Amino acid sequence: MTHRVLVVGGGVIGLSCAWRLAADGHQVTVVAPTPGRDGASWVAAGMLAPVTEVQFGEAALTELLLEGARGWKEFSAALEGASGHDIGYDQSGTLTVALDTSDRAALDELLAYQHTLGCTAHRRTASECRGLVPALSPMVCGGIEVPGDHHVDNRALLRALVAAGQAAGVTFVRSSVTAISTGNTDAGAGNAGAAQSGPVAVLSDGSRLGADHIVLAAGVGTPHLGGLDQAALPEIRPVKGHILRLGPAGSDVAGPPLLNRTVRALVHGRSIYLVPRPDKTLVVGATMEERGYDVTVRAGAVHELLCDARAVVPGIDELELLEAQAGLRPATPDNTPVVGWTGLPGVAVASGHFRNGMLLAPSTAAAMVDLLAVETR
Ligand SMILES: Cc1cc2nc3c(=O)[nH]c(=O)nc-3n(C[C@H](O)[C@H](O)[C@H](O)COP(=O)(O)OP(=O)(O)OC[C@H]3O[C@@H](n4cnc5c(N)ncnc54)[C@H](O)[C@@H]3O)c2cc1C
Repeated sequence: MTHRVLVVGGGVIGLSCAWRLAADGHQVTVVAPTPGRDGASWVAAGMLAPVTEVQFGEAALTELLLEGARGWKEFSAALEGASGHDIGYDQSGTLTVALDTSDRAALDELLAYQHTLGCTAHRRTASECRGLVPALSPMVCGGIEVPGDHHVDNRALLRALVAAGQAAGVTFVRSSVTAISTGNTDAGAGNAGAAQSGPVAVLSDGSRLGADHIVLAAGVGTPHLGGLDQAALPEIRPVKGHILRLGPAGSDVAGPPLLNRTVRALVHGRSIYLVPRPDKTLVVGATMEERGYDVTVRAGAVHELLCDARAVVPGIDELELLEAQAGLRPATPDNTPVVGWTGLPGVAVASGHFRNGMLLAPSTAAAMVDLLAVETR
């Protein structure tokens, strides 16, 4: 049975859900100010990294991330086929390196924990690391090779999701949702809410869109959608991340790429990553900051990222600084996304993907398809 589904949000989560729901036969509309061009998804690094993202005490989340990674190859092939776009899905793996002996000790502890979780990760000596990635600094004193942690070009992914959505019949409305009426609450939706059985979204120009179901996928904007009982919405807070984009300058454009895989590092206790793109640019990130909804780019954060990145890969000194940005990760109290019905009639949520929205987009979209399939029985 076909449902009219309205997806609020045009980031990787909203777009993935929209495409898969439309491909499953539903009539889907996405409402977002600039679909595929904003939010955390636009600034993200695009790592698909269940193993190098392992944190002590988050075994259940790691299981979810590993499950998410398993679906990526098929998702990538289906998306490239449906959209006609190359999304830069790269399976060259990840190398995490240590810069000093205490970083090395910390990586050894992490490796032991990764192994207790059943992750595939291999201890590498300093010279083995340089053999894998010749651009590494001579100061690197060993690392962990993780062949199963891949990456994707986040912006190419977003472009492909918009194109695949369009091809599957998704309608895009470039606007913001100010409120949602479920019939139980007064969202200012007036008679439109009462006139139809499903929920109604009120847009910034005052117009109303009704649907059988609404999926809230507005990232850090999710808890601020008006008209809804806040107690039914997940607790989501913004965690700021500064991120840089560097690229070859002048005649270096024709040369070989600096990195042949993602490099992550501990630099005197601080984490850094450098993710290569097919066009030879590098994404360097990222800070983790609790600063509310502020996306100002701070000079100190850019300085810190550049210092740590050049300590690991000195060759970045010759690259051009193309972009410095800050984005807001949608974080939940336990760092685990919330995907399912809200308890409000006809309103589902897919948000709170924190550091792993790219990785979890395919599994989240599949879960949303299953959710609505159960509803149709
Ligand atoms: C610096 C940084 C690096 C990252 N690196 C990675 C990585 O390497 N790998 C990984 O897996 N994840 C990474 N992430 C996390 C990932 O980016 C997020 O988890 C993911 O983008 C969340 O997607 P989303 O669609 O839920 O939210 P967003 O991408 O933030 O999208 C939210 C969408 O909702 C829209 N919206 C908001 N309010 C409204 C409204 N009222 N009405 C209509 N639309 C609305 C916005 O305009 C936007 O389109 C990174 C994040 C940051 C900040």
